[in-house]
Amino acid sequence: MTELAVISGKGGTGKTSVVASFAALASGSVIADCDVDAADLHLVLGPKVRRSEEFIGGKTAVIRGDACTSCGRCLEVCRFSAVRVISPTDGGGNERYEIDPLSCDGCGVCAHQCPEGAIDLLPARSGRWFVSDARTGPLVHARVGIGQENSGKLVTLVRSEARKLAAKKQAGLIITDGPPGIGCPVIASLTGADLALVVTEPSLSGFHDLDRVVRVARGLRVPVVVCLNKWDISLEVGHSIEEWCHDHDIPVVGLIPYDNAVTEAQIHRKSVVEHSDGAASAAIRKLWDRVAAILEL
Ligand code: SF4
Ligand code: SF4
Repeated sequence: MTELAVISGKGGTGKTSVVASFAALASGSVIADCDVDAADLHLVLGPKVRRSEEFIGGKTAVIRGDACTSCGRCLEVCRFSAVRVISPTDGGGNERYEIDPLSCDGCGVCAHQCPEGAIDLLPARSGRWFVSDARTGPLVHARVGIGQENSGKLVTLVRSEARKLAAKKQAGLIITDGPPGIGCPVIASLTGADLALVVTEPSLSGFHDLDRVVRVARGLRVPVVVCLNKWDISLEVGHSIEEWCHDHDIPVVGLIPYDNAVTEAQIHRKSVVEHSDGAASAAIRKLWDRVAAILEL
């Protein structure tokens, strides 16, 4: 089983458009949408959800009101300002202490410090994950709950389920739509992948973020290739990126030109290669052929 991770140092480089087209070109491959904080591949691939599961990503502290003596220790020790003090409404009685689940990190310090043992750490429902039949084949995707973190864990879970599904369906390839940035979710989407395709754009911020994400991939010993999307919007920066890639032994395997068909495809909820035979579509097909050759598919 081969795993291709498509990543970008920053958001908005067109990574998901590339993955959606790859899904169409490599029909039957398992697609793992690991961009769980802003999952949007399902908008293009039109999945029918076959399985929906809750994601328990961590813990949340909860105060048992009947055991709390309102000593205030939890308020003092919480570094996340998650403890709230509720004043008595009728002017009498004690203040009440509560924990805001959106602010609570689940670190457990308050539970450890509470002299009454009045704080429980309960499993936190942090989102949902799904196994679906998309137009192009199987899709594993997820949604992080509002205000929830632990998306690195959810990415790991999505990849693990994608692997199980690929084994069950005897699919030889998993294509991962990775999260933007260089944080924990990106590391979770890259670790153990056979190839990282970085989709970048010819801008100074794109260049800077390319450098950072390449370092992450190389630190994880994942081979890297680069695709320049909308390469013709700044020829100067584009050439600088190509030179930089050459100097760092990174193959530039695709140059996708600016093309209105990319936006039109999104509006029609199709991948670029399904929607158009224009310049961007042709470039993505060529890019796929090169990536497939590198992966020896
Ligand atoms: S430390 Fe325990 S007893 Fe004190 S206010 Fe917090 S929950 Fe209540
Ligand atoms: S578990 Fe940690 S973050 Fe949550 S309320 Fe307690 S001390 Fe604060």
